[in-house]
Amino acid sequence: MGIFKLPTTPARSALMSCIRSKDTKPEMHVRRLLHSLGFRYRLHVRSLPGCPDIVLPKLRTVIQVQGCFWHGHSCRDGRVPQTNTEYWTPKLLRNRQRDRSNERKLRRLGWSVHTFWECRVNSTSDTSLKDHLLRILNQASNNSSQKWRAKKKSHSN
Ligand SMILES: [Zn+2]
Repeated sequence: MGIFKLPTTPARSALMSCIRSKDTKPEMHVRRLLHSLGFRYRLHVRSLPGCPDIVLPKLRTVIQVQGCFWHGHSCRDGRVPQTNTEYWTPKLLRNRQRDRSNERKLRRLGWSVHTFWECRVNSTSDTSLKDHLLRILNQASNNSSQKWRAKKKSHSN
């Protein structure tokens, strides 16, 4: 006991959240759809707050595919278990707080953050998911070209 003690640092908790949420089935599904739409992305970017699942750097957009249980979705799967509540309640609350704080940090750094819940990914048709992705990413692309135009304009003035 106590031979190997992990340090409790923010870097470690970031790493832990990175490991836990990696390559889940709904995440792989969203990645496949993105790929089929021709978007390129980076995965589990450790240099960003919370190590986001899917990152589209050019569009400054982060897509999070969240498991309903671990991330406390407001659906049936997101309910706290009836047994061991004194263990689960604070644990799941901490997850939610960490998600919110990471999301705030990302937005402050100028990223758009979109959350895809596991239950929705599983119950929505590929066509609707693709439509949703296209809406989000076209919007992001308009925003980034507007910023670029604004920048260019201010330079020429
Ligand atoms: Zn859910």
